[in-house]
Amino acid sequence: MKNEGRNIYSVFDEMLPKSAKENLLQQHAKVLWMTGLSGSGKTTIAKQLEKILHEKGYLTQLLDGDNIRAGINNNLGFSDADRIENIRRIAEISKLFLNCGIITINCFVSPTEEIRRQAKEIIGEENFIEVFINTPLSVCETRDVKGLYKKARAGEIKDFTGISAPFEAPISPEISVKTENKSVEESTEEIINYLIPLINYKA
Ligand code: ADP
Repeated sequence: MKNEGRNIYSVFDEMLPKSAKENLLQQHAKVLWMTGLSGSGKTTIAKQLEKILHEKGYLTQLLDGDNIRAGINNNLGFSDADRIENIRRIAEISKLFLNCGIITINCFVSPTEEIRRQAKEIIGEENFIEVFINTPLSVCETRDVKGLYKKARAGEIKDFTGISAPFEAPISPEISVKTENKSVEESTEEIINYLIPLINYKA
């Protein structure tokens, strides 16, 4: 047979490298990993970020509960094992986008150091930007965008991060955004200022 003796490594060797895709798109790809409590502002900021980057000519992909938990991960719940599997799949998907040259913006509570460490390991330290959307629980609970805190306080949702499950604040995130008393635009700008020099294309 013609392809006999070919192993999987040679297939990867023949694939176009990330650098070729980045050259085509004229951008450097990174994964922005937004972590923070429910209601902290991850998705709101990510949407604004994506809009601004698009206007500036960057190709992005936003991953959040809407397109991940409702789709590829719809067989997973919130047990410890499922949370780990959820993040593993998200990280693997992010890596595919990354290797395609696309700036990937992820919005997931990802509540523990261990979970974020796992994601960073899969994606690769050099391409992983940890963004802490640093909003106090009291503010998130007052916002209660989806009414989830009320339900969690009433005991209707178990293992709810911040109420009945822990949230470990990142120890050394690349960016920490305090959203309290800030507009969405101001919060987004802090991330843009950090990000642009890293994604701006230099061959
Ligand atoms: P998460 O994705 O973290 O669960 P959401 O983005 O769904 O949070 O909700 C955050 C809520 O907080 C939105 O209603 C948003 O309008 C509000 N908000 C107020 N100030 C800010 C800010 N500076 N940055 C982001 N969101 C903010």
